[in-house]
Amino acid sequence: MKGGSIGISLLGAKSSMSEISVQLNNGPAAQIPAPVTVAEALKKLDRDLAKQALAARVNGREVDLAHTIDEQANGDAVKIEPVLPATLEGLDVLRHSTAHLLAAAVLDLFPGTKLGIGPALLEDPRYGFFYDVIAPRALTEADLPVIEKKMRDIAKRNMPYRRDEISKAEALRIFNERDEPLKCELIDEKAGETVSVYYIDGSPFIDFCLGPHVPNTNRLKAFKLLSLAGAYWKGDAERPQMQRIYGTAFFTQEELDAWIRQREEAEKRDHRKLGRELDLFSIQEDYGQGLVLWHPKGGIIRQQMEDYLREELVRRNYSIVYTPHIAKRDLWKVSGHEENYGDSMFAPTKLEETEFRLKPMNCPMHIGIYKSQQRSYRDLPQRYGEMGTVYRAELSGTLHGLMRVRGFTVDDAHLFCTPEQVQQEIFDCVDFAYEVLKTFGFDKIKFELSVKGSDTSKLYLGSEEDWQKAEAEMAAGLDARGIEYERIEGEAAFYGPKIDFKVEDAIGRLWQLGTVQRDFNLPERFQLEYIGEDNKPHRPVMVHRALFGSIERFFGVLIEHYAGAFPMWLAPVQVAVLPITDRINEYAEKVASELRKAGLRVDVNVRSDKIGAKIRDAQLQKIPFMLVLGDREMEEDKVAVRERTKGDIGAMSLDEFKEMATRLVKTRALTNQ
Ligand SMILES: [Zn+2]
Ligand SMILES: [Zn+2]
Repeated sequence: MKGGSIGISLLGAKSSMSEISVQLNNGPAAQIPAPVTVAEALKKLDRDLAKQALAARVNGREVDLAHTIDEQANGDAVKIEPVLPATLEGLDVLRHSTAHLLAAAVLDLFPGTKLGIGPALLEDPRYGFFYDVIAPRALTEADLPVIEKKMRDIAKRNMPYRRDEISKAEALRIFNERDEPLKCELIDEKAGETVSVYYIDGSPFIDFCLGPHVPNTNRLKAFKLLSLAGAYWKGDAERPQMQRIYGTAFFTQEELDAWIRQREEAEKRDHRKLGRELDLFSIQEDYGQGLVLWHPKGGIIRQQMEDYLREELVRRNYSIVYTPHIAKRDLWKVSGHEENYGDSMFAPTKLEETEFRLKPMNCPMHIGIYKSQQRSYRDLPQRYGEMGTVYRAELSGTLHGLMRVRGFTVDDAHLFCTPEQVQQEIFDCVDFAYEVLKTFGFDKIKFELSVKGSDTSKLYLGSEEDWQKAEAEMAAGLDARGIEYERIEGEAAFYGPKIDFKVEDAIGRLWQLGTVQRDFNLPERFQLEYIGEDNKPHRPVMVHRALFGSIERFFGVLIEHYAGAFPMWLAPVQVAVLPITDRINEYAEKVASELRKAGLRVDVNVRSDKIGAKIRDAQLQKIPFMLVLGDREMEEDKVAVRERTKGDIGAMSLDEFKEMATRLVKTRALTNQ
C-alpha cells in the first residue's frame, strides 16, 4: 500500500486533490484524498476514535484536529495517533484548553486584563491548571464563581479554538496593540520566525501558544475554579505582582465530583495539620527545613513501628547492625555516590586533613561489614538490617511535611548471597513487604517491576544476560505469591531491576513506599567476594531492600490513611480514664495504674472539667477507648467503656476491659473489635 506519493508529483498543481497514504497508530495504511484535516482523516480511519479525539500526533508532532495534512514525506504513510481522553496526554490538552477558556472569561469580564502564562498541571494533586493575570482591579475569591459562570457560557456557545500562523513582527504588533506587555516579552524570547497564535473565536481572547487544544469549547464540560494566589511574573519578586487563578478540569462531571470529594477528605487528613493537632511532630524553621522533630506522641508510634519491624527482622534471620551517619569522602567516590548522586549530598566537611560527607544512603556501610572478613559460601546469605538515618540536600522548594525531608531514616537492609540463592531471597523480600504493609492496614498493594528500557543512549551496567536472568527471578518472586504486578520498561535503576511497592490509602490515593533492588554495580566497585565450594573467589549478588522506605514518609502516609485515628497498637494514648467528679480521681488513678501494669498507654484526666468536655477532648485526640468513671463504677469496681467511633459500649469489669485491650494490642488489630 506504499507509494501513494507518486500521485503528487504527477499532478503537480498545488490546488488539485491528490491521494496520500495515512495510518492510524501502527495500523495498515489507507489511501485518502489530500489535503485533508486530521479530523477528517481520523474519521475515515476510525469513526469512533475520531469522535473521542481531543487532538492528535501526526508523525509524532502534536497538532490540533483542524491541522491540514497535505503531503507525505519520503513515501511513508502519515502516521496519525489520536490524543484520547483518559490518557495523561489527553488530560494535558483538556486542562490547557480550559486554562485558555479561563483567560477568555477573565478578558470578557475585565477588559484590559494583562495575561501571563496558563499551563496545565498534571502532577500537582491540588490543582489542574492556572492562569496568571493582572486585572484592572484586584480579583477576590468572590469573583471566582462569576468567572466560572462566564466560562460555562463561552463553553456552551461551542466556539472553535482557531490557530493562526503569523510572522513574529505581526504577532508583536497584535499583542502591543492589545497592550499585553508580558505576552510581547514571551514572544520576543521564545518565538522563531513565525508564531502560532490561538483565538477562541467570538471571544476577545488571543494567546501566543504552541497548542494543541481541543477543537471547540463545548468539549470542556467538567471544570471548576479553585482558588486565587499571588504570583510574580516568572517567579521573580522584582517583576510585576500577578494573581494566579487555579482550577481543575476532568473529562466527566463524575470524575470532577470524585476529585473534589477526595480533595476535601485529603485536606482534613493532611498530616501536617494532624501532626500539629495531635502533637506528633514538628518541623521548625529555627532548626532547619526538612528536619523532623518527633514529639513524644509521634515518638511512641515510631517506636511501635520499629519494634515490630525488628521483631520481624529477627524472625526472618536478619542481623541488626548500626553504622555512622558520616564517612570519609573517598568512600563515596569508590561507591560512585559522589559521581552519580553528588547533587543530593551535603557538601564535604573537613577534620584535620580528612574530608567527610554525610551519608545519603546506607549501602556502602553494610558493604563495610560484609568486607570486614573473608566470607565463604557457607556464610551466605548475609542479611544486614538497620534503621539507617540518611541526609539529602533537597531544595527547599521540593520539601513537603514528612513526605519529602532532608534527614530521614530508612528501614534499610542489604542482602549478600550467591547467585543460586537470590531468587529465594527475593521471594522472601516480597513476602516480607506484603506482610508488613498488611499489618499497617494497607490491603491494596500495587507491585511494579521496573526493568531496563530499550533506549540505548541510557547507560545500564551488567550484561543483557544478567538483566534477563534478574528480571525472570524477580517476576518469579511475584508470581510465586500470586501477586499481580505491572512491568515497567525503562524505569529500572542503572545498576539493576527493581520491584517497587505502592499502597492505596483509605481515600484511594497511591503512595510509593518500599523497594527491592538488584545491584550489578556495588559488588564490582567494592570487589566483593566469597569463597565458593570450588575454593575459588566469586562475586556475591547484592540486593537492597526497604519496606517502609523512609520512616518519616511512611508515618506521614499512616497519619493520612488513618486520619490520625490510629489502631490500638499504634495509638500514642490507648486509653483515656475520665473520672466524672474529683471524688473518683483516686479510683481513676488505680484503674490507670492497673492498665499500665498490663503494658497499656493510659492518660488520666483529673482536670475539673465537665465529663462532656473530657470526652470531647479525648475524642479530638482520637484516643481509641475512654473509661468514664462515676460513683457507680467505683462501687462496683467496673469501668464504663466508650469506643471512639461507636460511643458507649457498656460497663465491664476492669479485668474484662484489660483482657480486650491487651488482645487488640498484641494481635496488632486494625479495628477495635
Ligand atoms: Zn494554549
Ligand atoms: Zn542500598
